[in-house]
Amino acid sequence: MKQFDYLVLGSGIAGLSFALKVAPRGRVAIITKKNKAESNTNYAQGGIAAVTSREDSFEMHVRDTLEAGAGLCNEKVVRTIVEEGPERVRELIELGMKFSEREDPLNHHKELDLGREGGHSRRRILHAKDVTGREIERALLDAVSRQPNIEVFENHFAIDLITSQKLGYVGDNRCLGVYVLDKNSGNVSTFVAPFTLLATGGCGKVYLYTTNPDIATGDGVAMAYRGGAGIANMEFIQFHPTCLYHPRAKSFLISEAVRGEGGVLKTLDGREFMDAYHPMKSLAPRDVVARAIDSEMKKSGADHVLLDITHKPAQFLIDRFPNIYQNCLKYGIDITQEPIPVVPAAHYQCGGVMTNIDGATEIAGLYAVGEVACTGLHGANRLASNSLLEALVCAHRAAEKVLASKPPENGLKIPFWQSGKATNADEMVVVSHNWDEIRRLMWDYVGIVRTNKRLQRAQKRIANLHEEIQQYYWDFIVTSDLLELRNIATVAELIVKSALARPESRGLNYNLDYPEPNPEWAQRSTVLRKEA
Ligand SMILES: Cc1cc2nc3c(=O)[nH]c(=O)nc-3n(C[C@H](O)[C@H](O)[C@H](O)COP(=O)(O)OP(=O)(O)OC[C@H]3O[C@@H](n4cnc5c(N)ncnc54)[C@H](O)[C@@H]3O)c2cc1C
Repeated sequence: MKQFDYLVLGSGIAGLSFALKVAPRGRVAIITKKNKAESNTNYAQGGIAAVTSREDSFEMHVRDTLEAGAGLCNEKVVRTIVEEGPERVRELIELGMKFSEREDPLNHHKELDLGREGGHSRRRILHAKDVTGREIERALLDAVSRQPNIEVFENHFAIDLITSQKLGYVGDNRCLGVYVLDKNSGNVSTFVAPFTLLATGGCGKVYLYTTNPDIATGDGVAMAYRGGAGIANMEFIQFHPTCLYHPRAKSFLISEAVRGEGGVLKTLDGREFMDAYHPMKSLAPRDVVARAIDSEMKKSGADHVLLDITHKPAQFLIDRFPNIYQNCLKYGIDITQEPIPVVPAAHYQCGGVMTNIDGATEIAGLYAVGEVACTGLHGANRLASNSLLEALVCAHRAAEKVLASKPPENGLKIPFWQSGKATNADEMVVVSHNWDEIRRLMWDYVGIVRTNKRLQRAQKRIANLHEEIQQYYWDFIVTSDLLELRNIATVAELIVKSALARPESRGLNYNLDYPEPNPEWAQRSTVLRKEA
């Protein structure tokens, strides 16, 4: 049994920011399933949206966010996050984060260089060239290494939350800790604390094609669901329109900032097509662009489209997008000379564990911040670069809330972990087969454009797979592959159930059986809870 004051599951922007804020007041364990920098945060390219320029205003940022969210955002949450954003960004800079700067041509001062992305009416994206996330992780992990109260457990996989309800206690459901698999030794430990933060990120790996790294298997949502928390709006999965299309490139994103700097989408025969879909053309909101590409690909039978930015000076592209330039070059594509082949891919989970603006979930003592959470900021569609902002603001608020709360004295008895004892030579093939099957069927039946029939077909197959996985789970020694498979099956089920529950097309949920928004659903979230 390992006892701490605060447990933090995940070492992306949400987990690290929270840990740094609570560490002066108690011992913190950061539990993270790979090496500490490996996270969606680490791959963020575009940047953080925050109002820092004289030409911009909170009102404009709020309006852009609400517009992208297609009627489903919580306006109060949007306003708070937008208004508190600049202060949190300032703290990040004080901590050592280095954003790109440019020289103001009028007074020759250095100022923050602001990028522009789809759906933003102003330039407001603070970035570190096109490797913003890497620089955020560097700055936060540096600060963590200077904080003696924080212990980082790498290669430690959070299996399940320990809740009072699951242990059979009556009264309010409270999170008491978490069971954790040490991937190196294979042992499972019990971590206990009065407060636990879920900061496990999103679930892109539920889909065959994704911009997300391998860690994004929806573990936090699955754990919170099993623990009894409400899960909201899982039907709203954002597909990024432009992932590099190349047989050897695994999940490489071509940032929206490329379109922000003038990149134009074209069919394989060189025809610009976005003017037929939206007045903002290639800079239209992501869902519009992803559907337009999907539709053009279906019409022509092509397996990708092109993103052309060759009209910009080569040196500008190399300076502004060094990471994209180098990566494409590795695959034989010189972005200064030829258009980039791109396809849409699953990118961001707008729904998640239902929380208030302070990250509090329905389970006492359990907080959720970052991509794992659903605060109401994104509504039916996330505005680009609002997610890093949300993680910063809500991590701060959650830390303040936790620091102001008195730890409960419950003295509940927590049992040690029990698992199956069997090992089986064919386990790996079953795990990898089911893993591939879920991801492919989610891509084919629960993708950018949905129908009820396809969703129902997916639901049936996932239910069968789930049953098989459950049996494995109880009989066999747990491994991280088996745990992730169980979690992606749960998350796939939640996405399908939520999509079937919403009889309309809104934001990212596009269903050909109901092609229009239904005003009765304008303010309604889909919320799923596991029966106790
Ligand atoms: C390619 C790419 C580009 C992006 N660009 C931008 C951008 O420009 N601007 C923007 O705002 N957003 C962007 N996003 C989205 C943004 O990066 C994420 O939403 C954000 O970083 C999520 O932060 P997080 O802290 O919630 O989760 P993450 O950064 O994903 O961190 C999750 C952490 O939890 C750990 N973890 C997960 N499950 C477990 C478990 N069971 N046990 C232990 N540890 C676990 C992981 O290992 C990881 O450390 C991008 C995303 C991608 C993939």
